Amino acid sequence: MTIRMDLMPGPEVSSGASRAIPIARPILDSEEAEAVARVLRTGWISQGPEVAAFEEDFAAATGARHACAVANCTAALHLALIAFGVGADDEVVTVSHSFIATANAVRYTGARPVFVDVDRVNGNILPDRIEEALTARTKALLVVHQLGMPCDLTAILDITRRRGLPVIEDAACAIGSEILVDGRWEAIGRPHGDVACFSFHPRKVVTTGDGGMLTTADRQLDAQFRLLRQHGMSVSDRVRHGSNRVIAEQYGLLGYNYRMTDIQAAVGRVQLRRLPAMIRERREMAAVYGELLCSVPGLRLPQEPNWAKSNWQSYLVRLPGEANQTAVMQCMLDSGISTRRGVMCSHREPAYRGADWRAGRSPVGGQVDLPNSEWLQDHGVLLPLFPGLSRGEQEIIADRLRASLALARP
Ligand SMILES: *Cc1c(COP(=O)(O)O)cnc(C)c1O
Repeated sequence: MTIRMDLMPGPEVSSGASRAIPIARPILDSEEAEAVARVLRTGWISQGPEVAAFEEDFAAATGARHACAVANCTAALHLALIAFGVGADDEVVTVSHSFIATANAVRYTGARPVFVDVDRVNGNILPDRIEEALTARTKALLVVHQLGMPCDLTAILDITRRRGLPVIEDAACAIGSEILVDGRWEAIGRPHGDVACFSFHPRKVVTTGDGGMLTTADRQLDAQFRLLRQHGMSVSDRVRHGSNRVIAEQYGLLGYNYRMTDIQAAVGRVQLRRLPAMIRERREMAAVYGELLCSVPGLRLPQEPNWAKSNWQSYLVRLPGEANQTAVMQCMLDSGISTRRGVMCSHREPAYRGADWRAGRSPVGGQVDLPNSEWLQDHGVLLPLFPGLSRGEQEIIADRLRASLALARP
């Protein structure tokens, strides 16, 4: 039995629209269902042995020394920032051009997000714009592997190591992506910065419904995450449960309830076993898009630098300058193909109006100098890409995109 879910229809999709090809679709079948049933029958369903096993599997899959599971990636980002002591009066250099959770996590700590512009090809932070954004208040860098495409960690770490700044990688979309380090391909999340944060939302490559993971090589950081995710509790309930002596726990710091459940972890372990095959399939589909779309006039395709391999969590094309993004997407939807606009810019959302943030060098409340971030949001379109999408469907998508571009001429 295969449970196929048509994901994320979103409020912008009218209920009458036929969505023959969704934007994304996770693989969930009887293996996940049986894993969940097995955990339910054990009677231990919150953070327990299954979460611990998932953490071990995840560390093995990414080459990380430590992996700590949490409720979602937003929680992971929040804990990573707290662990580095980020708080009020601090600044965290990051990007506006990301899902809003990236910048929100900085704001949760009371710190000010400082937005650096991104490159126009893949939407990743421009390393040569980082230095000018740093001040005496900069406490950390929060970089994103946008849509699964690795950002230029080598160039970024070159800047931050000289200054002793911690680097947190928002790897929400990047499970299974790789970068070339000293001639070797290494998985994102090893991590190459100090901490990497992953998401298991259904729009990502591996899903547990909701869920997140922090990876690090630093044992003390990992211990800190474990305290923070469970109210700062000194002895976990699993240890107390297994003890034949009475143990009283203590709460030494202000923690959170950011636990993952064993039910979610059971799903995650099955999903991880599927990862290599899913990445292979996604990379093949991206290559097929490259072949089908390279001749579309004015259309620009994503490109892997020679030091990166994307997991192709999403396939972002950039429309010709004169094309109307909404009209093209509507045309596609009318012919049964779901697309999404390019990655959002947090600074353009009402939640950021009047909030404490600044862009690059510009002073607080000053001019917003993020031209590439805004351009990509307005000209980018994400095409469907998920395991099981056939070559025939990709051909249909390519044909419809070509036709939509012709129809949606201004
Ligand atoms: C999805 C996503 C998040 C948030 O992940 P959740 O698990 O939903 O909290 C954060 N950052 C980026 C770049 C994302 O794509």
